[in-house]
Amino acid sequence: MWPGNAWRAALFWVPRGRRAQSALAQLRGILEGELEGICGAGTWKSERVITSRQGPHIRVDGVSGGPGTVIFPGLPLPHLSCCIHLLSFTSGILNFCANNYLGLSSHPEVIQAGLQALEEFGAGLSSVRFICGTQSIHKNLEAKIARFHQREDAILYPSCYDANAGLFEALLTPEDAVLSDELNHASIIDGIRLCKAHKYRYRHLDMADLEAKLQEAQKHRLRLVATDGAFSMDGDIAPLQEICCLASRYGALVFMDECHATGFLGPTGRGTDELLGVMDQVTIINSTLGKALGGASGGYTTGPGPLVSLLRQRARPYLFSNSLPPAVVGCASKALDLLMGSNTIVQSMAAKTQRCDSQQGRLGGGETWFRSKMEAAGFTISGASHPICPVMLGDARLASRMADDMLKRGIFVIGFSYPVVPKGKARIRVQISAVHSEEDIDRCVEAFVEVGRLHGALP
Ligand code: PLP
Repeated sequence: MWPGNAWRAALFWVPRGRRAQSALAQLRGILEGELEGICGAGTWKSERVITSRQGPHIRVDGVSGGPGTVIFPGLPLPHLSCCIHLLSFTSGILNFCANNYLGLSSHPEVIQAGLQALEEFGAGLSSVRFICGTQSIHKNLEAKIARFHQREDAILYPSCYDANAGLFEALLTPEDAVLSDELNHASIIDGIRLCKAHKYRYRHLDMADLEAKLQEAQKHRLRLVATDGAFSMDGDIAPLQEICCLASRYGALVFMDECHATGFLGPTGRGTDELLGVMDQVTIINSTLGKALGGASGGYTTGPGPLVSLLRQRARPYLFSNSLPPAVVGCASKALDLLMGSNTIVQSMAAKTQRCDSQQGRLGGGETWFRSKMEAAGFTISGASHPICPVMLGDARLASRMADDMLKRGIFVIGFSYPVVPKGKARIRVQISAVHSEEDIDRCVEAFVEVGRLHGALP
């Protein structure tokens, strides 16, 4: 006789080693099925290995290249009176898919500032901010970010993903509502999922739909409209004036993610709110240090002082993750100094994105140059007036094969497919940087035309 329920335990008893093995075998089976599914759908994302610094001309493991030149706007040459700096090196792969909008990722002064911070403040803090992870450089950078955006205060996070993950849960309660553009970045969507507020999703850039949702949301305590300033997958810009107008009519706050705008949109690079003249109407901004501002990593929230104070007390990615490494802080701080010290870099990007100067019969900046030539060749390019130029292809396999063939021609671009973009809307996202030359852009267009014909994307 077995005492109590011991017979049951004996029946299901498997030696510990074998039990672990069978669970692992089961897991392997599940994972292999998932991975095969991703391959079968043509949405597999493989990573290419860069063996140089980030920049318009890079070296890529296994792909050969030739000589290249980088132009750093805003850095004076000792023997030239103009404000450009040329650095030649052996490379040849043209990079058209980094968020390095201003070319600051490898800017000599930015690198030097990172080295100096590393030397002076060490490799890292081995701590979160509130324990013993706050140095003078963190406080200085937060003050600088607030000044740059003309806001009351700012708080640093390890990334903008974290800033988005931390904000909504800390700020909104079940009494409140958040109204979010359906094409907002995944990190905004995830951040909103974490909060207990009522959730409304309005159609992309659709102001009538936003208004209907705001009317519905009148019953809640706070209403927060959440939008990307510039949409990263489509290269389009939120109609901020209309959003702010509706927000004021319906007593709502406006939150904006400025990852693809900070540093280069607007006359002095402050972002979409400056571009559209509503700097005083957007309450909260989240943005990244990992794109135009040196490209290392880090994110932040900037806005009202009490909000920033609350986030320091409540935002989980801030409370439970290490503080930013000094070298990263040093790089971002220098990038902001460069932008706040002179408008040369911002203007060089603006020149690249300016509209076609049809009166003089010539093309304007790089983005327009690229768009016009690609559209003339028969491609569909989404968005407008932004250095993000998505080449719309539809099919995920087509996008990935075309990107592979572009690399064979020395152009580094990547196919974007589900879940990064909706199914059936695969694309190759091209990003123009201030440090691309017209020749670089021409080479990219020529390769696209050749590869497009090869794959039947063009007649
Ligand atoms: N928000 C937007 C719109 C983004 O494009 C990204 C990054 O791709 C993020 C947030 C996340 O930024 P980070 O890399 O700093 O986490």
